[in-house]
Amino acid sequence: MAHLNNPTEIIRPELLALHAYHVPAATGMIKLDAMENPYALPQSLQNEIAQLAATAPINRYPDPNAADLKASLREALDIPDSMAVLLGNGSDEIIQLIAMAAAKPDAVLLSVEPAFVMFRMIATFADMKYVGVPLKTNLSLDIDAMLKAIEQHRPAVIFLAYPNNPTGNLFEEDALLQIIEATPGIVVIDEAYQAFAGVSMMNRLEQYPNLLLMRTLSKSGLAGLRLGLLIGRSMWLDEFEKLRLPYNVGVMTQLIAQAVLRHTDVLTAQAERIKIERTNMLAQLAAMDKLAVYPSDANFILFRVNNATEIFQTLKQKGILIKNLDGAHTLLDNCLRVTVGTPEENAQFLATLHTILREKV
Ligand SMILES: *Cc1c(COP(=O)(O)O)cnc(C)c1O
Repeated sequence: MAHLNNPTEIIRPELLALHAYHVPAATGMIKLDAMENPYALPQSLQNEIAQLAATAPINRYPDPNAADLKASLREALDIPDSMAVLLGNGSDEIIQLIAMAAAKPDAVLLSVEPAFVMFRMIATFADMKYVGVPLKTNLSLDIDAMLKAIEQHRPAVIFLAYPNNPTGNLFEEDALLQIIEATPGIVVIDEAYQAFAGVSMMNRLEQYPNLLLMRTLSKSGLAGLRLGLLIGRSMWLDEFEKLRLPYNVGVMTQLIAQAVLRHTDVLTAQAERIKIERTNMLAQLAAMDKLAVYPSDANFILFRVNNATEIFQTLKQKGILIKNLDGAHTLLDNCLRVTVGTPEENAQFLATLHTILREKV
């Protein structure tokens, strides 16, 4: 038997052409690159979690429906009773489920550019066509271009993050509603940063049968647990449930997330501290020469410099890791993105950046 020993003969060409999602090493660094919440949980809650972990039935498979966790989420997030909930191993997995479910031949997944890179990558994984409609130069939604693209491509699914990543801004709700009304397919509003924005499309779910809402606990302090959720009508979620692998949310994640959700005041207080620091950082960045900063409703800030790669590298050498977006999209030329950290981390980042800007052109 002649074996096909070469990956190029077995693996799909669009996958061969992809680069794996790169996560840079961050050991020992001030880590401001991934929108993580920088705060630990209070000691009392840590102790409660330790107790739960000690006796967790890890010899058993988890509850495949995670019924208790869903009940906690419904209460904590004020999810309407009329809506169904689907849980994912992070919301990344939910994006993948939706794309797999909608991937008929030639089906289109549409988003904006720049957007969360996983929308494009997962469209490719699932063998969907990806269409990215550029934002305007001020990074707002180009509603005319969106409506034109919807008419032309008839997308099965539209993903829009609200607030958007990597730009940090909220799109206008009116524009989102126009898109939801105009599109023949479903619209997933990705509210990964809702804790820092204060607004939500949750109250629009009843009104629009093609609207789905995605949330995650990752940016609110539980990135390591991997828990995302999709909220919407069961006529959609029942179909996605068929593709969900039965034990995608583990015993530990279910137990710990429930424990933390019994103390939502802790997460809310941490989000408030992050928002205060965001205001402070926005002001300090705005006061710097050779730098332009964009407004943010998220826990990160996008800003533009004259030489992003050099500044990114210099910060890195000095032990501060942020995200370099130069080259990701023309609208992001010379752009950097920093996550709001603790006051100490932010102060160190701002002081170091200030020094670098003074010394370089
Ligand atoms: C971080 C992020 C996610 C992914 O969250 P996980 O739940 O950790 O998978 C989804 N959407 C956007 C816009 C994000 O920025």
